[in-house]
Amino acid sequence: MQDASSILMRVTGLEKHYGAVRAVDGISFSVPRASVFTILGPNGAGKTTTLEILEGIREPDRGEIEVFGAKLRRVTRAVKERMGVLLQDANFEPYLRVKEVIALFASFFRRAVSVDEILTRVALQDKAKAMVRTLSGGQRQRLAVAVALINDPELVFLDEPTTGLDPQARRNMWSIVAGLKERGKTIILTTHYMEEAEALSDHICIMDLGKIIAEGSPRQLAAGLGRETIVEFVADHLDPGDVDNLKTFGQGARTDGEVVTLQTNDLVGTMEGLLAWSRERGIPLANMAVRQPNLEDVFLALTGRRLRE
Ligand code: ATP
Repeated sequence: MQDASSILMRVTGLEKHYGAVRAVDGISFSVPRASVFTILGPNGAGKTTTLEILEGIREPDRGEIEVFGAKLRRVTRAVKERMGVLLQDANFEPYLRVKEVIALFASFFRRAVSVDEILTRVALQDKAKAMVRTLSGGQRQRLAVAVALINDPELVFLDEPTTGLDPQARRNMWSIVAGLKERGKTIILTTHYMEEAEALSDHICIMDLGKIIAEGSPRQLAAGLGRETIVEFVADHLDPGDVDNLKTFGQGARTDGEVVTLQTNDLVGTMEGLLAWSRERGIPLANMAVRQPNLEDVFLALTGRRLRE
């Protein structure tokens, strides 16, 4: 159990319905200080709606939010001063220079970090005089993060911060998030990338259809699947008889296109069965990998669906 002082935000029974759509359907969680707290879920799970309520952009139908030691029905202006929000699709004026954008947003707050300091934090020092229109996608996203940090917030919301970024830009964003945590900030992140959740998070809530269906550290969540090992390979032209056969080699088998995934408690037995089957059927076990369960496996086990379908 965490003691109360180590919890920055506590959410209880939060609900938001849009007509018949239960976008957020009674969720409760606690966010520890100086940690990365992630809501992982597929499109439409209710992540953005949850964040927008916590950011004070939307009002919940029901529920309670306790943040910075105060219980609130909705997030107030004074609370917002202590928060930073990464704007989704931030469309900064293309003919403004980077430092002008920062100065503009800084003017909205009573207390703001200096332009130089904030640009250093997001590794955009070299771009201070560049016009927004000349920035790459990753640099624009870093500018959006700089804007979110301008008031030196204690709590930072990052809603899908790396969606659409290339792998290099994604890594840059990950190191910015890690740097924020090192400086004692609390980060609430949403993502539908399980690698991102695994790499960054101290605590993950897996959300689906408005509900939290599992939570814990990445390690705890994967351990929840038991001692199973995952064997994966690519095989085309399988017939239904093959799939039935494969199911007998482990504790579970599924096919997703050409990818076959087996769960097993007896790796040696499974491999023996698989190799014999492969030889007999003349089907090579292409790209074979043996790995521990990941968050995608956890989501699949809980919902029967993949995170990205
Ligand atoms: P994404 O990753 O696609 O942003 P999400 O997990 O953030 O998904 P939300 O955007 O919170 O999910 O949406 C949750 C559900 O609520 C979806 O079914 C969505 O269509 C619905 N929804 C969201 N906003 C509204 C709205 N303003 N009016 C009606 N329905 C809405």
